[in-house]
Parts: sequence; C-alpha cells; structure tokens
Amino acid sequence: MAQIIDGKSVALQIKLEVKEQVERLKAKYSVIPGLAVILVGDDIGSVTYVRNKQKACDDVGIHSRTFSFSSDVGQKELEILINELNHNAQYNGILIQMPLPRSLDSRSLLNAVDPEKDVDGLLPSNVGRLVIGEEALYPCTPLGIMTLLQRYEVPVSGAHAVIVGRSNLVGKPLALMLIAANATVTLCHTKTRDLPGIVRQADILVAAAGRPGLVRGDWIKQGAVVIDVGINRSPNGKLTGDVEFEQAEKRASFITPVPGGVGPMTIAMLMRNTLVAAERQTRR
Ligand code: NAP
Repeated sequence: MAQIIDGKSVALQIKLEVKEQVERLKAKYSVIPGLAVILVGDDIGSVTYVRNKQKACDDVGIHSRTFSFSSDVGQKELEILINELNHNAQYNGILIQMPLPRSLDSRSLLNAVDPEKDVDGLLPSNVGRLVIGEEALYPCTPLGIMTLLQRYEVPVSGAHAVIVGRSNLVGKPLALMLIAANATVTLCHTKTRDLPGIVRQADILVAAAGRPGLVRGDWIKQGAVVIDVGINRSPNGKLTGDVEFEQAEKRASFITPVPGGVGPMTIAMLMRNTLVAAERQTRR
C-alpha cells in the first residue's frame, strides 16, 4: 500500500518557513512583502482561489490586496493598473487570476507585468530562464510538485518521469524542472500513441490532464510514485483527480490524494515566490 504524500502538512511547513523569513525581512529592512491580485468577473472558482490566496497571505504576514473588476472591464483600464502596480514598491508580486473573459487579451496583459513581479512565473523571460537553468520566478504548481518529491526524498536523478499533460502552467515547466533534476522525461498529450504503455514505464508519474479517472490503476508500475495534479468535480460535488486512486494506491510506493496533495502546495509556493520577489527587489 502506498504512503500518502501529505501536501497539506508540507504546505503548512513551507508557510511557517515563509512566515519566519517575512519577519526577518521586516526586522532587517522594514520591508513587508506585498501581493496584488487582479480578479475579473465573479467566476465562483476564481473567487474561491483568490480568497484562499488572500488567507494564505494573512497567515504568513504578506500584505495583499485584491483589485476586483466586473467582467466588462476594458483592456486599457487593466493595462493602466498593471503599469501602476509595476511601479508601486508596496507590491512585490502581481498575479492576474486566470481565466480572464474572452473579451480581454490575456497574454498581452500577462506580458505587461514586470518580470521581477511575475510571481506566477508565466512570463516568457521567466520561462526562458527556466529553460536555460537560470535563477528566476518559477511557476507555482510544478515548484510545489518538485518540493513534494524533495521532502519525501523521492529519488529523481535517473528516474523515468512520465507527465500526462503539456500545458504552459503545469506539464511543460515541470518537464524542464525534472530534466534539471536529471530525470528522463516523457511528456504525453492527447496525440500520444499508447498512453497506457508509456505510463506503465513510469518510475514517477504526474497526471495533469484534467480528466477524471484517465489514468487506470493497473497502468501504474509496481512501486511508482504517483502525483495527481488533476482537479475535477464529480456530479455529486466531490473533488477527484486524474488517477483511479483506490487501485493505484495498491501498486504505488507514494501517492498524492485529491484534495490535499498538490493543491495546497501551489498556494504555499505562491507565498514563497512573493517572499523571494520581495527579497530580490530589496537587494536591488
Ligand atoms: P490544460 O491546459 O487543459 O492542459 C491539459 C493537458 O492534458 C493538455 O496538454 C492535454 O493535451 C492533456 N490531455 C487532456 N486529455 C488527455 C488525454 N485523454 N490523454 C492525454 N493527454 C490529455 O490543463 P492544466 O491547466 O495543465 O491543468 C490540468 C489539471 O490540473 C486540471 O484538472 C487543473 O484543474 C489541475 N490543476 C491543478 C492545480 C493545483 O494546484 N493542484 C494547478 C493547476 C492545474 P493536448 O495538449 O493535446 O490538448
């Protein structure tokens, strides 16, 4: 039976570490790290995520403010705000809650954020630094996954890591991080031939497709480490991942639950990125 990877408790630990460092920064430089969140519309998922982020900021002593707009806000108004926030030393991190309404050009708004304040790590310059292995702000979910692997002492070097999903948010940046940690990486997507055959070879399997039950329990290699990133809501309102948990748990050595696995780590990493951004901007 697999050992459960407890993302909730690791995230709590990380937040305590961040809190200590926030206090140190305040004592030494009188700096309180700040996070600005831009929220457009009233999508229930986005509103909940933003509320959770704000609560995490309160927990670790990061100053945060949410700038909320109705879904008919214009591109120009948001550009002006982003420009002001770029120049406002109170905010070390700027986060645009996705998805934005279709009427807005999301990419161009993201690109308007100062890369030093890009705490989501999604700007081309930060992604480029990740590709060549330079220090940068890295995306929170893959960072959270790498941190879970480290804290549970999962051997990554030389392992075959299979990732299902190639999004810019999760799959692609995670592949780069795993390569940097000397894993051999296979990245799968909807055009992949023989997904079960590839998953069966994985020492470390990361499912990030957003398809409930896509990865069957009997695809898991005996002793593999299973990281389930998927968040799917079933008709009865229950959250499930992309992996058939009960069957996979019998074969894996470690497995993340949904909820309580990768999810809490994403927010903890956002706190850490905001702290890191504040430290770098203070030293500048
Ligand atoms: P996304 O942008 O929709 O990307 C999904 C990826 O999965 C795509 O690359 C897609 O392939 C691939 N895929 C979908 N169905 C597949 C199938 N049947 N076989 C093989 N590949 C398949 O999603 P995302 O933003 O990366 O998010 C993925 C999941 O993780 C979602 O459930 C999301 O809610 C969750 N998530 C969780 C967290 C967290 O903090 N826990 C953070 C972010 C995302 P193609 O490229 O070929 O279309």
